[in-house]
Amino acid sequence: MLMHIEGTFYMRDTYTCQRHDATTGNQDSEAVSVVIVGAGPTGLTVGNLLGMAGIDTLIVERNASLSDYPKAISLDDEGLRICQALGLESAMSKSILLNISAHYVSAGRLLAKVAPSSKRNGHPLISTFNQPEFETALLEGLKRFECVNVRFQSNVESFEQTDSRVIVTIRTPTGTLQTVTCSYLLACDGGRSTVRQKLNIPMKGTTFAQKWLVIDAISAEDPPPIAMFFCNPGRPAVTVPSPHKGRRWEFMLLPGETEKEMLSKERIAALIQQAGGSANSTIIRKTVYTFHSTL
Ligand SMILES: Cc1cc2nc3c(=O)[nH]c(=O)nc-3n(C[C@H](O)[C@H](O)[C@H](O)COP(=O)(O)OP(=O)(O)OC[C@H]3O[C@@H](n4cnc5c(N)ncnc54)[C@H](O)[C@@H]3O)c2cc1C
Repeated sequence: MLMHIEGTFYMRDTYTCQRHDATTGNQDSEAVSVVIVGAGPTGLTVGNLLGMAGIDTLIVERNASLSDYPKAISLDDEGLRICQALGLESAMSKSILLNISAHYVSAGRLLAKVAPSSKRNGHPLISTFNQPEFETALLEGLKRFECVNVRFQSNVESFEQTDSRVIVTIRTPTGTLQTVTCSYLLACDGGRSTVRQKLNIPMKGTTFAQKWLVIDAISAEDPPPIAMFFCNPGRPAVTVPSPHKGRRWEFMLLPGETEKEMLSKERIAALIQQAGGSANSTIIRKTVYTFHSTL
């Protein structure tokens, strides 16, 4: 079957489906080779890779749809190489702004400039992307594979491992519980992974939890392809260009500042202006998140 997805033709029957040994012996329980928990960029990417290998896969996502939340923005050359390997480079290109350089500034002085010219993997080292569009392209890519299914509004509640399989209990959109048996369960369920917690795998190392205001804005013109890091101890900040005349702004919260005041329209306009941006930017997303950095 030939499918048409956003200007790209895919041969659906190029990929044949192999079923691994995950039989349940129970007619009421579904069996697949792989269950992926989470339809974020990781789960959707793995789903495409497994689809290309013809492995029957079920992706289970607790949300009703893909997220429309300001999250990851930077993509390296390895990430672009994976997009290319998925055969989705052209479909994804509109969600990616290639070849970004970084300027580190303090009190108006340029401290350092990073403008990588190497293309060791055939792609620029730093690019930015629009995560909601990127995820949509990955989800569309899954339509090439009959052996990969995605279920939204479905929450992985628990799982049980035997020597040869994993029995996964899923809360379905109607509220009922369903059991799916698989050979492999992939925890692509994000930084707060419930699978990791259920397996009692702790996060190791130390982190410096900092609260940051993150704003995605659209300006009238294409911003220069330069990320600016404001090395100002009084208000650390960063701004990064993104596709479609987009610009991400991030400002660290100072002690005593509340989320409510930082998310106000007036405060956001003032912060962007102080950092050299336009007061007339259209804000499309804003949130305060806690930054963690741990290994
Ligand atoms: C405000 C904010 C800003 C960020 N900025 C950046 C940035 O600038 N650069 C960067 O690299 N990263 C950034 N991140 C991190 C970014 O979110 C991750 O890099 C990226 O989303 C990770 O993708 P993922 O697929 O691994 O996990 P996620 O995107 O978290 O996806 C996991 C999915 O699993 C689903 N899920 C979880 N548990 C279950 C369950 N039990 N059953 C079913 N589904 C489940 C969730 O609903 C979710 O959709 C930011 C995050 C936030 C919140």
